[in-house]
Amino acid sequence: MIGFDTVAMVDWSGGNDTGPTPRKDAIWVAVARAGQVEPAHYLRNRIAAEEWLASLIEEELAAGRRLAIGFDFPFGYPSGFASALTGQDSAFAVWNWLTDRIEDAPGANNRFDVAGQVNHRLGGSRGPFWGNALARDVDGLARTKADYANPFPDRRRAEMAAPGTFTCWQLAGAGAVGSQVLMGLPVLNRLRRAFAGRVSVWSLEALSAPVNFLEVWPSLIAPIVAAELEARGGTPIKDAVQVELLARAITYLDARELATCLAVSEPEEGWILGLGHEDALAQAAQRVGLEPPALRNDCFALPAGVDWTPVDTALAQLRRVLVPVTRIGTARIAEAAGRVLAEPVVATRSNPPHPNSAVDGYGFAGGRAEGTHRLPLVDGRAAAGARFTGRVPTGSAIRVLTGAALPDGVDTVILEEDVNQADGQIAFRGPLKQGANTRNAGEDVRAEDTLFTTGRVLTPADLALASAVGLSTLPVRDPLRVAVLSTGDELVEAGEPAVPGQIHDANRPMLLAMVDRFGHRALDLGRIADDRVALRDALDQAADHADAILTSGGASAGDEDHVSALLRDEGAIQHWRIAVKPGRPLALAMWKGVPIFGLPGNPVAAMVCALVFARPALAVLAGAEWSEPQGFDVPAAFEKRKKPGRREFLRARVRDGRAEVFASEGSGRISGLSWAEGLVELDDGERHVKPGDPVRFVPFGSFGL
Ligand code: AMP
Ligand code: MG
Repeated sequence: MIGFDTVAMVDWSGGNDTGPTPRKDAIWVAVARAGQVEPAHYLRNRIAAEEWLASLIEEELAAGRRLAIGFDFPFGYPSGFASALTGQDSAFAVWNWLTDRIEDAPGANNRFDVAGQVNHRLGGSRGPFWGNALARDVDGLARTKADYANPFPDRRRAEMAAPGTFTCWQLAGAGAVGSQVLMGLPVLNRLRRAFAGRVSVWSLEALSAPVNFLEVWPSLIAPIVAAELEARGGTPIKDAVQVELLARAITYLDARELATCLAVSEPEEGWILGLGHEDALAQAAQRVGLEPPALRNDCFALPAGVDWTPVDTALAQLRRVLVPVTRIGTARIAEAAGRVLAEPVVATRSNPPHPNSAVDGYGFAGGRAEGTHRLPLVDGRAAAGARFTGRVPTGSAIRVLTGAALPDGVDTVILEEDVNQADGQIAFRGPLKQGANTRNAGEDVRAEDTLFTTGRVLTPADLALASAVGLSTLPVRDPLRVAVLSTGDELVEAGEPAVPGQIHDANRPMLLAMVDRFGHRALDLGRIADDRVALRDALDQAADHADAILTSGGASAGDEDHVSALLRDEGAIQHWRIAVKPGRPLALAMWKGVPIFGLPGNPVAAMVCALVFARPALAVLAGAEWSEPQGFDVPAAFEKRKKPGRREFLRARVRDGRAEVFASEGSGRISGLSWAEGLVELDDGERHVKPGDPVRFVPFGSFGL
């Protein structure tokens, strides 16, 4: 399966440092992560760019994300050049040759001299390179194409198929790409060496590594770039806009189309990604960033050879492979509680917006020393919402009420209770500090401060803060739609008569309510018999209407496990044997691009697995930050011996400051779930808990219930 989690597009530069202020003809990089394109970054020179790219690669590798980085210059030269220069007909031989010779610094580099050396080495001073932008003459390098002789093709096969491309032999003049190649390949080569084995370079070699360098050419989407520049108005920098659009194009390119684009092997010359697929690229570039990316079908694959997966490893994998799948929109503040922020939020106004009085009292200018003070009162008063517009003369005071904006001439307030007032005067005793009983403008939050970061689940207090700083709507993601279904021939609906051998579906009402408490939109898909056709229909329906599916029952790898069997044959399924009790294998699967969390049928295991695994996974899909449930160490009121090798969750509650656990650990004991108010989590290692020993208690509230 081809597809990238993160796509970075680079507009390279062959020139010198372009200074601290973002400008055109510098290096620009746009990154699209999880389908969201960030505004392009400005990099003033190649040294800065190399460092920046190295840290991007490190970050993406560490996060386990598959990264593509596109560069807008040829990765190879026309055929014949590599072997004439190096004796090997591989582009990498040229990369190495140049890396050994090119010198680069922000203010100067030796590219023209190296080009002159190449010309000499290949027998002349008239080619293949030409064009010198320096004031001084360069040995072996002609200033213009006059008298040019090139033993190699003027263009690569890719360039012959792409009208408007420049040849890589031309080093100077508007649009010339030759300098970018000479100054770019050594950088790519160093990155490739620094991350050896983890970088593949398309189309020179197969794409097998987590980091992939791609050759791109922004002009393939020139009409879209032109339209976008016009739409943005002002003076947007074209370089920035085109890498943003290109990053979007590669991100949203249809998977099959992307695979076709990538199915090219050109080990010597290289190739331009998307050549011949301009319409598809243009379409993808125009897909607004609202449409979330698809999850990869193989996203739940565990490394081969893993037997029992520790809980933490399983959680880390979920965190790594899942991305937000919901659309971005806006919500009015009053409706935003519990919604997930799609972007950072910045204050538009300070809080408080003006200096104001913290108390009811009298305002004047300046502090006062010890002793008695008398001040004449001016007419009028300042109240919250009723501003005093005049100026209070020095030495006079004015009546002020709590929350009133301080009038001109007032910076200090004395509390009403500390004042005697008579005959248009006030009297009080000092000392009083200047600024007493007032609040400064912005002492809480200043305009432009970032209030919240992406992924925050908005609390009631957040709504107060957002309102206070002048916002009216917030960028939020659509609620995640989670379909819930139960499987099993033995199940009948709650309240329905049951014959011997039948049981009532207990999981579904529980799971629907849990989904609701987690803040998602629950969709009830009912009970499905252990029947392949019915199950397939139900999953199809779920995939059409939901962003994720929770099933319970039938999820093991046994004969009667119809969910597993169907997904094995027609979907993609992975059984995660997680070292956890209670729990059996957790089945993770994809059905038509929608992730399925196949929970065990036993209600206790279903609930614990939903809390421990489905809850954080659904949160990521919904766009929320990863959050670990908050637990507390409390003394145990019980004794328990536990073997090493798996984590255990016990139904528990706290009484008199001690954690009690439910008398039976049986995983069919639903009454224990109801009795409990949280879980005691016992770590993976061996443990002998004695009464009074500290154990970690995680209240159900910490899981969002
Ligand atoms: P399974 O995972 O299908 O093998 O089911 C394990 C156990 O959980 C069996 O005893 C099932 O009858 C029971 N079970 C499965 N689904 C439910 C449900 N929705 N409500 C109550 N019990 C269930
Ligand atoms: Mg079953």
